[in-house]
Order: sequence, then C-alpha cells, then structure tokens
Amino acid sequence: MTQAFENSRRNFIKGASLAGFAGMLGHSAPAATPPAGRFAKNMIFLVADGMGTGTLSLAHYWHLRHAGSALNWMQLLERPGVRRALQGTASASSPVTDSAAAGSAWGCGQRINNGAINVNPKGESLEPIFVRAKKAGKVTGCVSTCRITHATPAAFVANVAHRDLEDDIALQYLERGVDVLMGGGRRHFKSEARDLIPAFASKGYAISATLGDLRKLSGEGGPLLGLYSEDHLPYALDRANDASLAVIPGLEVMFEAALKRLSGNKAGFVLQVEAGRIDHAGHVNDGAAILHEQLEFDRCIETALEFCDRHPDTLLVVTTDHGTGGCQLNGTGKSYNGSGAALDRLNSVTASLEAIAREVGRVGSLDTAQFKLVTGIDLPEAKVAAFNAQLAEQMDYPAGALADCFQAELEAATAVGWTSHNHTAEHVELAAIGPGANGIPAYIENYQLHGLLCRALEI
Ligand SMILES: [Zn+2]
Repeated sequence: MTQAFENSRRNFIKGASLAGFAGMLGHSAPAATPPAGRFAKNMIFLVADGMGTGTLSLAHYWHLRHAGSALNWMQLLERPGVRRALQGTASASSPVTDSAAAGSAWGCGQRINNGAINVNPKGESLEPIFVRAKKAGKVTGCVSTCRITHATPAAFVANVAHRDLEDDIALQYLERGVDVLMGGGRRHFKSEARDLIPAFASKGYAISATLGDLRKLSGEGGPLLGLYSEDHLPYALDRANDASLAVIPGLEVMFEAALKRLSGNKAGFVLQVEAGRIDHAGHVNDGAAILHEQLEFDRCIETALEFCDRHPDTLLVVTTDHGTGGCQLNGTGKSYNGSGAALDRLNSVTASLEAIAREVGRVGSLDTAQFKLVTGIDLPEAKVAAFNAQLAEQMDYPAGALADCFQAELEAATAVGWTSHNHTAEHVELAAIGPGANGIPAYIENYQLHGLLCRALEI
C-alpha cells in the first residue's frame, strides 16, 4: 500500500471517528489512487453469528484431537498477508448488541439501536452495502443456515425499522435484486397471504427447494432462490444424524453453489455467508450443537481460501457479530487433565437439545434411556421426573429448559460451561485477506469496517 493511501486512510478513520461516522463512511472518494491490483473485485464475507472466542477455542481443540489439525480459522491466521483484528461490537442502544444492529454496523457504517436494520436512531434509512455494490455492477448473494430474511443477511441489503418485519425484508430482496438467496425461511416468501416465488421466477431466478434440485442446477450461473425450510435449517449435528434431513443442503454446499452462480460476473460479486445457528446453540447452551455449527462454518473458510487462491482479486473477511451464551471449555479434573476426555464425550452426542426437546414435546415426556442413547449422558431419575412434572411450563423454551434443568449433568460430562442464554459484550475476532485487508486496523469498532469494505471494493 502506498504511503499516501495509508495516510489518507488514517486521516479518514480519524476524521470519521470524530464526526461519529454519520453519513461519512463509504461516501468520500479516496484521496489517492492506490496502485492497480489494490482494489477487490469480489468480496466473500463469512459470519459465524454469535461466536465468542470460547466457541472458537472449543472447536479448535476438538479439531486438533479428532481431526489431527488446527481449525482452518487458525491456519488462515498463519497465511502471509492476513490481517487480524479485535472488534468492538456495541450498538447505539447497548454495550451488548443484537445481530440486527451488529450486521447493520457493517452494512451501513453507523451504530444503530438493537432491533433495527439500517435505520439509525434518528429514523434515517442508510444505504446498505449490497445496494451500493449493485450500483457498481456487482452481483450480490446471501447464504445462511437461518431464515434468509434473518437479521444478519438482511443487514447487507434491507432497510426496516425492526428485524421482525421479515415479509418486508423478503420483498426488498426481490425489489433490490439480490442475485443469490439460499437458506431457510420459505414462510416469508410463500404463505397463505402471498407468494413471491413466481415474481422471483419471472425475474429469471432458478428456484431450488432441495439438495437434489440444487445439484441439478450446479454449474449454472445467474440468479438463484434456494429455500430449504419454512424456518431455520436444522442444526448441522441433526443433519448429520437424521436421514430424513438429507434433502437439506449444508452451509458449505450452499456456499459453493453461490460461488458458482456469482463468480461469472465481469464486475465481480459480494457474498455474505452466515453460520447463523452458532448463535442459536449459544442461546440454548448446547455444547454439541455449537461445536458442529462451528466446524461446518470452518469448512467454509477452506472453500473460500481455495477460491481466493484462484481469484486473488477477492477480499475475504472472516468474523462474527457478537458472542452468545459465554461458551467455554472449562478446566476439569486434577490439573485440568479431565478436559480432553470431556471434549471426547461430545462425540457421543448425536442430537441437538432442540431435536431432543422436539421429541419430548411429541411423546409428552423426557425418556432417560432415550436421552442416554443420543447423548451418552446419564440423568438422575428424580430430576427427570421433576422435569416431566413441570413439562407444560417449560415448553415455551423447551431446549433451553432442558439445558437449565440438566446443566450440572451436561457440564460434568462435556466440561462446556455457559454464562447465560444471552448475547455478550465480549470483543470478537476478525480476520481478512486479499485486496483492502491491510487497511483494517488491529482494533476496530464494527461500524468502522463498512467504509473500509466500500473503499476496498471501490463502491
Ligand atoms: Zn442471538
């Protein structure tokens, strides 16, 4: 990077922080033109939603022990040219952000209130990054294991006063021409009240509803609407263990398909890929589910790096929006020597607490033998009887109720502990590589990233 560009970047950051960033980021042209090859034609933005550092470490040590290598995230940090930053995540309304405010900070460059999508506390709508990218001729895509109308993908595209307006978000995806949309949330596209899918089809979108039809489309370019569940996609842990879920593509498969659909565009693409259910497993306090969500996300880093190696004009950002649940692999046993074995016991778990709770709801009680079969964990009969006696009151949040009721048994078996069912204020990891990455400072507030991405992309 030239000294002039470094200076201009520094002044830009300084000025912007003094001015509170309102309306500034991404709207001023660079003062100096960086040398050719310094701009990114493409951007891949990988989000491990709700990933505290403890979750990353849990997955890393599991991977070392059971796959014999470091996580791809850790290997990425050893690549020449990678930038690593610690990121502050506060929103305008709280030191603890939600995904709407955090995603919007990246999407529009301002701190906004929890719950809002690219609408600031004054009620002003701010232009999302994908709208800017479309104006520059780039194609855009969102892939998520959540409903695709959920806060994090919406934050790169939409303007709504509240994240719950997911029907409106689906309509804005259509109007704003997001080229690839893949994930869950079919109910916000097709319901008794309306059906947006014919409108997508008439605009040239290929429509996909199963892994099978996605495979048939694979290799083709152009717009795609892939909706694989009414609600969020099932957890990776459940997809791996329940044959009835084999028709649902995983995050990696959707990511690879999205790359194929988008990468033929001459002016490049911007693609957000969200492992949205790391957050959900954190809310529930489900150690096995969070591990397998994180491992699935990590495989996407390898896919992204392979693409970047073939397309060095691609900026890759790997990060998270906040921590959730305070997940940690705790030291246990004499001299903490029990933690490795506890980690191994996660391998006996073949169903998420969400799937177990669904079965409990279906049959009307928790079955101790069945629980042991799918988790390897013994529960005291007296506690199970007490849980079953209060089942009706617990069914509002059944997976969380299971986690709370049997917290001692789950933690004794797996050594995975939690601070709450909520988001946390912790600073989070960010890694970036490719054109524009070296403009990212070692400490960054989430809203400061937007301007750096826009400048890297020349949008
Ligand atoms: Zn959350």
